[in-house]
Amino acid sequence: MPVIIHTDKCNECNGSSNPPCVRMCPGDLWMKDPKTGKIVMRNASDCWDCLPCVKVCPQEAIEFRLSYQLGFQTARLLPHIHNTRDFITWELIDTNGVTDKFTIRTKVLPVELDESIEGVTPAEYSI
Ligand code: SF4
Ligand code: SF4
Repeated sequence: MPVIIHTDKCNECNGSSNPPCVRMCPGDLWMKDPKTGKIVMRNASDCWDCLPCVKVCPQEAIEFRLSYQLGFQTARLLPHIHNTRDFITWELIDTNGVTDKFTIRTKVLPVELDESIEGVTPAEYSI
């Protein structure tokens, strides 16, 4: 199942001609509709759920829906990038609406930096 875009959340990155979702997709699937200026996906069937577009969107406007085999179509996995961009919190909402959160690093950092990251305590994340 391809990712979906919430057009009410997308602000076209304030009119950027080359927004990060367009730049990050390895399949070159996102494009700006020349007529409307809105971000659209060209070939949804070519999306392989690699998720950089989901993670990079500053508006959290692109969403990954868990596939039928893993949950059900109402199960969702939402990324929340921390301001420092060193951590990402994944919010998992299952078919019953139960939410769980997992915070992980987005890249390898020296362990001694763990406690200095914007309000995240070691107990809140795993590696
Ligand atoms: S990165 Fe997000 S807000 Fe920016 S254009 Fe893409 S979908 Fe819209
Ligand atoms: S999930 Fe990957 S392939 Fe699909 S649109 Fe996003 S970046 Fe492109």
